[in-house]
Amino acid sequence: MQCVLCGKTAAVNITKALCRECFLKDYESRIRRLIQREKLITSQDRILVAVSGGKDSLSCAQVLHTLGYSIAVLHVDVGVAACTNPRTRNVVERFCEERDIPFYFLSFSEYLGVDMDEFFRKARRPRCATCGMLKRYVFNRFARENGFTKLATGHCADDVARYFLKAWVSGNRESFLWLEKLKPLTPSLHPRVVARIRPLFFSLEQENYAYTKFREIVVAGCTMCSFFLRKDSWTEMLHRIEEVRRDFALAIARTLARQPEKGEANDTFQECRICGEPTSREICAVCRVRERCSPLTPTGRSGRQGGTTQEARQKERGSPP
Ligand code: AMP
Ligand code: ZN
Repeated sequence: MQCVLCGKTAAVNITKALCRECFLKDYESRIRRLIQREKLITSQDRILVAVSGGKDSLSCAQVLHTLGYSIAVLHVDVGVAACTNPRTRNVVERFCEERDIPFYFLSFSEYLGVDMDEFFRKARRPRCATCGMLKRYVFNRFARENGFTKLATGHCADDVARYFLKAWVSGNRESFLWLEKLKPLTPSLHPRVVARIRPLFFSLEQENYAYTKFREIVVAGCTMCSFFLRKDSWTEMLHRIEEVRRDFALAIARTLARQPEKGEANDTFQECRICGEPTSREICAVCRVRERCSPLTPTGRSGRQGGTTQEARQKERGSPP
């Protein structure tokens, strides 16, 4: 098979047959054009890239770095050893060191002052859903408190298509309304909300994988939801649809990006009575669960050493994590 651009032997055939050099050029220039067209990044922006150590978020950080944007990276220990562990941290830290990119690390447990096993148990939802909620909370809060104006994630077209399928099938009105916000750029609608950018919105997981391979980036993906091991039914559905309609994920991403925002999504933010973070309720979802957990003691052990929930709450109000 030959590269459709230069005629050399092709190294990949994802959306078209390309050699290594043409693939890298094509991948990076598509993202550069997206950033310019949709004004994802302006000269005043300070960019924080959330990097898990997987192929998508590492590709996101690499491509922004290669395109000359000045970025910093945040890696979060989510408290689930299959997802984040010393290896994922090392991979991300080394990636940053080699490129002279500022690296930040924090753990959910320390940030929130709770034991994560207890938090996941008391959230009474699937662990991935709780983890997603915590990531949104922590990424936004950390970015804002450290003066970043845009938060970049490695969400790609496959994620967008999966979310789209889920939202349609679940019948959950909030998820459905949120679709209108799912675009390469989600602007800030509240002074405490940092704008989100998704530079890989029109890139496929397979392309991100090829990109890390060709750029020789060491990857340490989560073993629960990695590209190869991901067993959830949404991914399986997506793969089956793509057997008959190869550009399905990209078509969904393109359609969503073109939809006007009708303003139906719930944008009525108020500030959480406990932590001050933006929320649509009086107390945010994170604080509601945290209230049910025992605060960590200074030694890092879980346990309420005297004091009532009410006292603990008062202390929390005084010094948010
Ligand atoms: P996920 O929620 O696992 O689908 O990840 C979506 C995006 O969130 C990734 O592309 C990353 O940008 C970011 N992300 C996920 N997990 C972490 C983590 N542990 N630390 C930093 N960023 C993360
Ligand atoms: Zn709160």
